[in-house]
Amino acid sequence: MNNFEEFSTYFVQNVGSKEGAVSPAIMQSAAFGYGNPETAEGIFDGSVKKPLYSRMGNPTTAKLEGILAEMDGGVGAVATSSGMAATALATISLLKSGDSIISIGGLFGGTYSYFSETLSRFGISTQFFDVDEFEKIENAIDEQTKIIFLESVGNPNMRLPDIRAIADIASRHGIVLIVDNTITPMSVAPLELGADIVVYSTTKIISGNASVLGGAAVFRAISEGEDKFKTERYEEVHKFIKKMGKMALIANAKKRAMRDFGMSASAFSSYLTLLGLETLPLRMDRVVSSVEKIAAALHAKGLNVNHPSLNGHVQNVRYNAQFAKGCGTLLTIDMGTQEAAYEFLRRSKLATITANIGDSRTLALHMASTIYSDFDDATRTFLGITPGLIRISVGLENPDDIIEDFIQAAAL
Ligand SMILES: *Cc1c(COP(=O)(O)O)cnc(C)c1O
Repeated sequence: MNNFEEFSTYFVQNVGSKEGAVSPAIMQSAAFGYGNPETAEGIFDGSVKKPLYSRMGNPTTAKLEGILAEMDGGVGAVATSSGMAATALATISLLKSGDSIISIGGLFGGTYSYFSETLSRFGISTQFFDVDEFEKIENAIDEQTKIIFLESVGNPNMRLPDIRAIADIASRHGIVLIVDNTITPMSVAPLELGADIVVYSTTKIISGNASVLGGAAVFRAISEGEDKFKTERYEEVHKFIKKMGKMALIANAKKRAMRDFGMSASAFSSYLTLLGLETLPLRMDRVVSSVEKIAAALHAKGLNVNHPSLNGHVQNVRYNAQFAKGCGTLLTIDMGTQEAAYEFLRRSKLATITANIGDSRTLALHMASTIYSDFDDATRTFLGITPGLIRISVGLENPDDIIEDFIQAAAL
């Protein structure tokens, strides 16, 4: 039984073409000829829909953007050169000096340092909260708050947010909610739950095989009536709403971030991402059931496994109620000490030791000595990084082989 049937037909039918080349055409050109001055004028004022220049958009990338927008029920998407670029595009296009961000949940390391070390240098502050600190979150909102940022699954702490509850807070206060849905494409539908923008690192399970770096931001339509983007808080967006109506957030992102920072996706990257997208429903279905099986088997053997599908896990109820289609490829194992974690990684024959996640292969990494080596102890504690913590991204291998390998690696 496939959990993602509704996407299977759509993806393969739209990635491939019925006429001419079946595989997506790679439009490997930086520039595009306009033919005549009138068309040039039309392309620049937006009345003619033809490619302008590849920094602002590329036909191969546009195909990917259309499919991703549809996947999430958005009005449009902007593909970027990486996942970090997608987060940068979605946030920078709305922020100015003096604004603040509320960030909720265990955060991807790069996003954490982007908020705490980089945006802070430009006068944009961020407050960090755990997923269920609803009251503190609500109290932290003030006039300067522009964005509430949330990850669909805490990586690597595996904390699951109540996305609808947080979206309700965002909506009550008229604040934009951005959800990083990298770990749970198709499994979680942030726009349906009340988010305004979804960001992805397509490098991970969407491409699924470590062949290409990429990202995307998917935007909801601006409503015809009342809309939080029409309030004073988002006045920089108003001119795009006047001109572009429901498509305003795409124009805003392209003009305010893509044009000026140039984090554009390349045509070849978009092509590779499209190839991955085709098989995403099959791979996701396989991995979600493997992760549950592996977590249960290792837990039964006495390993300290963190995965919300486990009975008695603090978030098992939320997992069953709100994450019925799983929470992606990750689980963590706490071996107690760095030494024991290193020994596990040395002994595992299947795991590839790397910082990536969402690959066809099973990947593993000791957290404290790698991604989080620069972080002080207090921050590591906040992010749930213990000395023996190993993050596992389960791949497409036979789950029984993974279980067997991990049991021998842990010397159980
Ligand atoms: C990897 C990742 C990113 C960053 O993506 P890149 O493609 O590496 O830039 C952002 N968020 C999450 C949750 C990720 O796993």
